[in-house]
Amino acid sequence: MSERVYFDWNATAPLRKQAREAVLRALEGTGNASSVHAEGRAARGLIETARAEVAELVGAEAKNVTFTSGATEANMLALTPAIEASGEKAKRDKLFVSAIEHPSVLCGGRFAPEAVAQLSATAKGVVDVPALGRAIARAERPFVSVMLANNETGVIQPIAAIAEIVHEAGGVFHVDAVQAPGRMACDLTALGADLMTISSHKLGGPQGAGALIRRGDIHITDPLIKGGGQERGLRAGTEDVAAIAGFGAAAKAAGATWQDDATHMAALRERLEAGLKATTPQAVIFGEQAERLPNTTFFAVPGLKAETAIIAFDLNGIAVSSGAACSSGKVTASAVLAAMGVEPALARGAVRVSLGRSSTMAEVERFLETWNMLAGSLVKERSGIAA
Ligand code: PMP
Repeated sequence: MSERVYFDWNATAPLRKQAREAVLRALEGTGNASSVHAEGRAARGLIETARAEVAELVGAEAKNVTFTSGATEANMLALTPAIEASGEKAKRDKLFVSAIEHPSVLCGGRFAPEAVAQLSATAKGVVDVPALGRAIARAERPFVSVMLANNETGVIQPIAAIAEIVHEAGGVFHVDAVQAPGRMACDLTALGADLMTISSHKLGGPQGAGALIRRGDIHITDPLIKGGGQERGLRAGTEDVAAIAGFGAAAKAAGATWQDDATHMAALRERLEAGLKATTPQAVIFGEQAERLPNTTFFAVPGLKAETAIIAFDLNGIAVSSGAACSSGKVTASAVLAAMGVEPALARGAVRVSLGRSSTMAEVERFLETWNMLAGSLVKERSGIAA
């Protein structure tokens, strides 16, 4: 069989060359970053270099970057009532999360279930901003979490506008920006975020590292993982030096090339969507009317069953997904599409194609040829209607 085509970058991105080199270099060392001897100091140096690289990517100060095991943990660390903003010590009384958040935010972090409310999204896949304004006005000390770009649809949320509303209401604002770096601008200050989560493996670093990044006057007073004083007391446990070093190198590379990469991905995606519509004019591309990441197409065709489609693509050498891959290989109807009001029957056929900076037009053409070959039988199979 010819080479495989990997179109599932939103689930995890291939390791960047610079990240691989940094990981391998770090693995050659021995030190515990908390040790004072030369070996320990060398490990510490790698972590602090990575911290500066991650900070630079999002325009933050290095001291406000806390390394975690990934974005899930960073979200759990962030979403706590015990957060101080500008010296305000009273606990946050209510958490508002958008209905299209990743499950690690949707679950409400460390807030009691009754203190968590969901904010609705429109049919375009964008958080309903006026409704958000009305909802948070009723809380005394709101905490709001809205993602920068959705992992399934790629729809970019109006973060700066939301930040203004949240701050006017005296709220704290967390942004899960996991899908953004390497694909769009992702500046903490320009976005108006108080806290931001990013993940190493989504931007070309190794799996198993992530970061929570704060504005200088935001303090989390109850760490999620307690123990030693690592990460300035915010995240106990010996650091995964190699993963963090790789994360830093990937962040640096993503910051340097994202604009060119975005242009490249947008051209590929445009061809992909045009080809999809040519073969199956009835295809629905979710979030198409909204501003989206340049790499993501989430589509369905009436009568298509996602599981069958994904297996058929896989057998033909192409890796795509059914949206959220995070549920251990289970293909469940997308909560994001449900929040957008998509009919369950259509949502069950939703396939996500997410490409990346090293994807090629030849790969897109191969995807389209495969779709052209498969679509008739895949769509007919369920509906009895010829594609
Ligand atoms: N948030 C979003 C938007 C994501 O796409 C993901 C990964 N699917 C996560 C959080 C969780 O990231 P991690 O795998 O680093 O825990």
